[in-house]
Amino acid sequence: MTSFPHPDRYQQMEYRRSGRSGLKLPAISLGLWHNFGDSTRVDNSRALLRHAFDRGITHFDLANNYGPPPGSAEENFGRILREDFRPYRDELIISTKAGYTMWDGPYGDWGSRKYLVSSLDQSLKRMGLEYVDIFYHHRPDPETPLEETMRALDHVVRQGKALYAAISNYPADRAAEAIAILRDLGTPCLIHQPRYSMFERTPEHGLLHTLKDNGVGCIAFSPLAGGVLTDRYLQGIPEDSRVASGSKFLQENQLTDEKMEKVRKLNVVAQQRDQKLAQMALAWVLRDESVTSVLIGASKTAQIDDAVEMLAQRQFSEAELAAIEAALA
Ligand code: NDP
Repeated sequence: MTSFPHPDRYQQMEYRRSGRSGLKLPAISLGLWHNFGDSTRVDNSRALLRHAFDRGITHFDLANNYGPPPGSAEENFGRILREDFRPYRDELIISTKAGYTMWDGPYGDWGSRKYLVSSLDQSLKRMGLEYVDIFYHHRPDPETPLEETMRALDHVVRQGKALYAAISNYPADRAAEAIAILRDLGTPCLIHQPRYSMFERTPEHGLLHTLKDNGVGCIAFSPLAGGVLTDRYLQGIPEDSRVASGSKFLQENQLTDEKMEKVRKLNVVAQQRDQKLAQMALAWVLRDESVTSVLIGASKTAQIDDAVEMLAQRQFSEAELAAIEAALA
């Protein structure tokens, strides 16, 4: 039996400052969107969390609705936290979010103060925590005044139920407004969580620049496009993959010939770098210094190892960057 946690865990990871805040996050963070709900074996979820922490991953990302069913990822995480991580709470950065549909009626969705404050209370109960480190508004609300949503974030920080406030899925212009409101309220926005990968480059058109200018960090979600930017689907659809699991978020019809052709070309570039495609895809997202962390999902501990071992080989030559652009063209 090896002891837990690994005594050398902090030597394996790189920690990057989130914008101009005092907080450093691991270059690789673990998200609990998939593989932590009630349909997953809890011993696998536990193994993933323990392995991640052993490898220096100090940040676990949740949301009220992760499951299925919604809320179950927080409940299962709370149980593992109590059983395995109790002495290490102060070594962890735990985040949760509210913004998508969570309960029936007009108060369980979007961005009202009513929803955000009560949702965070529910999340804390499910996880058995007194506070989360980061609380996000999960998506912009076209109807609620942005001031109300940002005031709700400021409020929970002042209450001590969250240490930092954050936003996710906000386009560049709305993000700039939200960041300005939070700054005026005295609770600076810690970080923004956009989708960013070789296949989803919207953040390059203004958002990354806005975040950098404002000293706000960036944590990129789905950097592997849910597993497509790996070697997972090069030989068909493995039985234990996200696509085969029937996830509505990644379906077989998304693996188009055109997309898989790009994946094959990218895989060749990765092989020439002596790297797995998953590793190259993560290194590529981290190439921009305004990206604080890549937020991965994992179904196996070996996938966490791939991500951490990427850190040893994350520089790109101009020729490699050009080859990647050519593959994506
Ligand atoms: P990724 O793009 O990293 O996809 C993760 C999946 O890719 C894994 O579950 C696994 O799938 C496969 N994979 C991972 N590593 C490897 C590897 N080395 N080799 C082969 N396959 C690999 O991220 P997710 O889409 O899972 O999202 C990550 C996190 O981002 C979420 O858990 C959540 O915290 C956050 N998120 C936030 C959103 C928001 O709106 N703010 C929205 C979506 C996600 P398989 O099961 O096939 O093994």
